[in-house]
Amino acid sequence: MTDYKQTKLCFEKHQPNYIIHLAAIVGGLYKNMNSKVEMLEGNLMINQNVLKCAHEIKVEKVLSCLSTCIFPDKTSYPINEKMLHDGPPHDSNYCYAYAKRILEIQSRAYREQYGDNFITVIPTNIYGEHDNFNLNDAHVIPALIHKCYLSKKNNENFVVFGTGKPLRQFIYSTDLARLMIWCLENYNESESIIIAPDEKDEVSIRDVALMISKNFDYSHRIKFDSSKSDGQYKKTADNSKLKYLYGEFNADLKLIQIENGISNSVKWFINNYEIARK
Ligand code: GDP
Repeated sequence: MTDYKQTKLCFEKHQPNYIIHLAAIVGGLYKNMNSKVEMLEGNLMINQNVLKCAHEIKVEKVLSCLSTCIFPDKTSYPINEKMLHDGPPHDSNYCYAYAKRILEIQSRAYREQYGDNFITVIPTNIYGEHDNFNLNDAHVIPALIHKCYLSKKNNENFVVFGTGKPLRQFIYSTDLARLMIWCLENYNESESIIIAPDEKDEVSIRDVALMISKNFDYSHRIKFDSSKSDGQYKKTADNSKLKYLYGEFNADLKLIQIENGISNSVKWFINNYEIARK
């Protein structure tokens, strides 16, 4: 998708009516800090080609994926959809954030100029089976699952980066998939829509590390390396618009509890160690 001609050929071959646009150069905090140019240029190229080709072959609808990590760094909480462009993103991931903010603007521009039904969703931190478990580039849950697995195998401390204090809202991959399909079928507005668990379900990195290590029976060996970056302290997002539209106000989104989601992910990683992306 970084190449216009290849993207056009792919779309012409498959003739999609709907597109869920997930193609992106993504990674956890440390990849964002180490690959700034790739995050900016790669994502700008991908988004430009996908939306342009989707418009040219006249798809009925495109759902594109943003992220809560692209919201302003200095803000009030909870963050809602209207605040997306209200201030600069966090220093650690501004390249990814600006590329994704432009995706929102591009989607809006195609809608306003050509009437294209291009929508954008904003999920919180995602985790689950079939994740990227690379120790350097992965997001926190898969990175820590892989780390804890190796620490136990090698009888070493399980070292978690940062202080463990930052807070995150995590959504399990199958829950997100289900809600994205719901948005594809039911949401037709220009403004983005946040897909997140409730604020009360926000957890600290320390909580997550503990849950992971308990699954390996290895919590007595956790150590926090506070010389490593914590990234953004929190980015608590407001899911009330989704809940309002999804059902009657305050609808239950029926999300998988994080303890169960982590336990499934750990089991999947252990059982699929050879084929896991790492
Ligand atoms: P973010 O939510 O966009 O910041 O992305 P991450 O999923 O990478 O989460 C980063 C948070 O997890 C930071 O507070 C890190 O300090 C913490 N963390 C602890 N250990 C790790 C690790 O091994 N990898 C990653 N990516 N983050 C870690």
